[in-house]
Formats: sequence, C-alpha cells, structure tokens
Amino acid sequence: MSKDHKTLIRPEGLPGSASWPVVTPIMPSVVYASETPDALDAQYEGRVEGYTYAREGHPNAEVLARRIDALEGEDGGLVLGSGMAAVTAVMLGILKAGDHVVGGDQLYGRSLRLMTQDLPRMGITTTLADPCDAAAIAAAIRPETRMILVEVVSNPTLRVADMEGIARVAREKGVLLVVDNTFTTPRAYRPFDHGADIVIHSVTKLLAGHSDVTLGYAVARDAGLQKAIYDFAVTTGMTPSPFDCWLAERGLATFDLRFDRAEQNAARLADHLGTLAGVKRVLYPMRGDHPDAARARAVLGNRGCNMLSFELHGGREAANAFAAAAEGIAFAPTLGDVGTTLSHPASSSHRALTPEARAAIGISEGFFRVSVGLEDSDALADVFSRAVAAAETA
Ligand SMILES: *Cc1c(COP(=O)(O)O)cnc(C)c1O
Repeated sequence: MSKDHKTLIRPEGLPGSASWPVVTPIMPSVVYASETPDALDAQYEGRVEGYTYAREGHPNAEVLARRIDALEGEDGGLVLGSGMAAVTAVMLGILKAGDHVVGGDQLYGRSLRLMTQDLPRMGITTTLADPCDAAAIAAAIRPETRMILVEVVSNPTLRVADMEGIARVAREKGVLLVVDNTFTTPRAYRPFDHGADIVIHSVTKLLAGHSDVTLGYAVARDAGLQKAIYDFAVTTGMTPSPFDCWLAERGLATFDLRFDRAEQNAARLADHLGTLAGVKRVLYPMRGDHPDAARARAVLGNRGCNMLSFELHGGREAANAFAAAAEGIAFAPTLGDVGTTLSHPASSSHRALTPEARAAIGISEGFFRVSVGLEDSDALADVFSRAVAAAETA
C-alpha cells in the first residue's frame, strides 16, 4: 500500500539548511504568519521585528531601501512603486491645504503636472522658478512656503541648478529642500552633504539601470517627515513589487561601474558630436561651451553625467531621418538604461508646449536628448556619425 502524501495547502517553513543563499531570495508573500496573538502584540508594539502585510513593507523592498540609503548617506528611506509615487508621497504626505511650494521650472514633466494641476486642486499653491538663479527661487518664497523641489540637472537642456544658493535660501527661510536626484545620482551628487532635507529617486532610471522595473525611493533626514511619507504611501497603496525590488537590487550591484562607463562614453560622444558638421550645438554640462559649465564644476566636482543633448541643423525631416538611421539606438523616452536611448522632446516630453514655449527653452524640432549607455564608444561614435550624415541629406 502506498503512503498517504496528503498535506495541508500551506506547509510551514522552508527545508532546513546550515548554509544560506548568497543571492537575496524573492519573497512574494503578501502576508506573514505569527505564532500566537501574544507574538503579534510583541511585533506591533515594536518589541520584536517582523512583517505583517506587504503593503506595509516586505523584505525585498527593505533590502533595496537599505542599499540606496547607503548610497545617499541616510537611514530609513522608503522604496515605492514608481518615481512619481515617491514625488507624490513626499508632497502629499507632508503638505496640507494652504501651504505653498516652489518648484524648478524645468522639473520632470509629471512633477510639473503635479505642481501645476493636482496640488492647486487640493488647495496647495505652487510657483515655478528658475533653479539656475537662487535669487529667483528666493523671490518666489512666501510666508506659507513649506517646500522647494528641484532637480540638480534639468531635462532636456541639462541646466545645472545653483544648489548652494538654493540650500542657503531654504535654510534662511526655514523651508524644506527636496532634491530629485534621479539624473545626477549619489555617484555625482549627494544632496544631504549640501543641505537637502529630503531626497527622491526614480529608481527606474540609472539606479536599477536596465529598463525592466518601475520603482521610486524617498528618504527624509527627519524621522517624523519620513514617517509621514511612509504612512501616506502605505495608505494610498504605493507598494513596490518584490520582484521589481529584487531586479533593482541586482541592477544596483553594478551601478557604480555602469555610471562611470556611461559618464565616460557621454563625454566622448559629446565631443564627437561637436566635430560633426550636421550638428548645430551640443549640450553637455562638462563641456566648456555649456552655459552652466562653471557651475557644473562647482556642483558636481569632477563628475559628469550620462546625459547629453544636441541640435541638428534642419527640422522634423532631419529628425526623422536621424532617428531612423540611428540603428541599434532605441528611440524611446527613458534614460539610464545599459543601452543608449534617444528622445525627441518636441514629439514626446515637451509636446504639450507650444513651439514658441519650446523655443524659449531652446528645444527645436532638431533637438535630441541622448541617454548614453555602456556600448563601445567607437561603435557609438560610428552610429551617430552615420545618423547625422543621414539627417544632413534629408
Ligand atoms: C523618470 C523620472 C521621474 C519619474 O519616475 P518614474 O519611475 O517614471 O515614475 C521623476 N523624476 C525624474 C527626474 C525622472 O527622470
């Protein structure tokens, strides 16, 4: 007679092992079981550590958060379901009706939308000002201003904010300084070393680095503010997926190496584009011809970035010919991938602006932004040379 192998549906525990995995396991469990009600009390009262329900936190999010904490030099950060979840949780978790926020006038598109459409609907007023000019930021501050939100390097014209000046304004006026550090990353800029109160990331971009997860991160220096961000994120369900967190942790293992390589490639590609007759201008903050070259050195030291922009002679036809000829370079509106990607602000991120408004910030139909990846730099130079030549004959 065969033995009866019937078991209950949820066997308890994993097979025993004196050794352990070197790779973080993926833990998709939504709920965590406890021994007894007394044991659960101990956990809720903070006498022992433990998880209860994944929306409130889970091991893969926590492992990832501690790694990004270490990069930014702070403790207790939170991983959320997207970069925009992080921006939203910071604003709505902390602000209340009647408050006022000052934002950089070239923030990420959805951050601008949050500032100009959603916050005002909730009774939070906002003003946008040029972050390259600390006096303009100071002039926008009101008695009810609670927060300043800036990015260090703007998209897509790669303007460098006056971070020291803005930090001084925030300190003098007693306003929270929130830095979206997505473009610069802690490899090039550590906001907490320069007076920031809160740091935000779209982990989707360089930190995870492989265009296969959507995640965000937010950390506040003040524990009370961090708790407000956490509670808002848990209440509104901004929970990241364990698998996404696991992929991002894997990506983060090579972040430093990827950043350094991409930065080198970007500097070389910027210089190469500058030699091509079909290119009208190149924007790379580390080049002497960038309007903020001096400030880039002051803010970023000897670090660069993986982003550059350039303008072709010619309009939409040249742009179409260029994108079609740039074989192997994904024409896709993201950044920070291992592979080089190309975006065309006039038809994507900045399409809602009038041509005049785009022209005012220097974005024409021939304008492209490049997120430089880890390819062989000679191969990159070749493909860009061919694509620029194709644009010239269009
Ligand atoms: C992409 C991006 C965001 C939004 O991040 P998601 O992960 O796409 O939600 C916010 N800020 C900056 C600077 C970004 O580049």
